[in-house]
Amino acid sequence: MLNEKIAKLLNEQVNKEFYSAYLYLSFSSYFDSKGLNGFANWYMIQAQEERDHAMLFYKYLQNNGEIVVLEAIEKPDKTFGNLIDPLKAGLEHEEYVTALINNIYSAADEIKDYRTMQFLDWFIKEQCEEEANANDLITKMELFGTDPRGLYMFNSELAARSYSAPSLSL
Ligand code: MG
Repeated sequence: MLNEKIAKLLNEQVNKEFYSAYLYLSFSSYFDSKGLNGFANWYMIQAQEERDHAMLFYKYLQNNGEIVVLEAIEKPDKTFGNLIDPLKAGLEHEEYVTALINNIYSAADEIKDYRTMQFLDWFIKEQCEEEANANDLITKMELFGTDPRGLYMFNSELAARSYSAPSLSL
């Protein structure tokens, strides 16, 4: 059994990861409505990854004898004035998720819960990648997004992203 506080934080993270999936699905829907199928594809895959993250926390809790409580998922209600807004909201969200993961890690460290720390190692690394990806999207949009041909090429690049299952399995 896990420490009560750690179990609670991990359970909350299940919900946060599902919310991330919801958020990115809303980005995908926004870009689809703008005719940018590549961006829509990129965020659709991102949403799938977030569901995978949620299930990793879910399984970790289950493997440790915890009963997972599935709370209501918050409604993503952001509205966007232009194409770069979702990209910026994405980076902001990933920085928030990094802080959440760090918070669980630090709570686990405090009580010497080495098992949870090791489980979270993958997510620490993953967050570094997520933030880098989000930053990269913003940079490219700033460089190429204002030129229609540049935007077309960027959209085509994002259309090529394909889903692959997380490298961590439980
Ligand atoms: Mg995630």
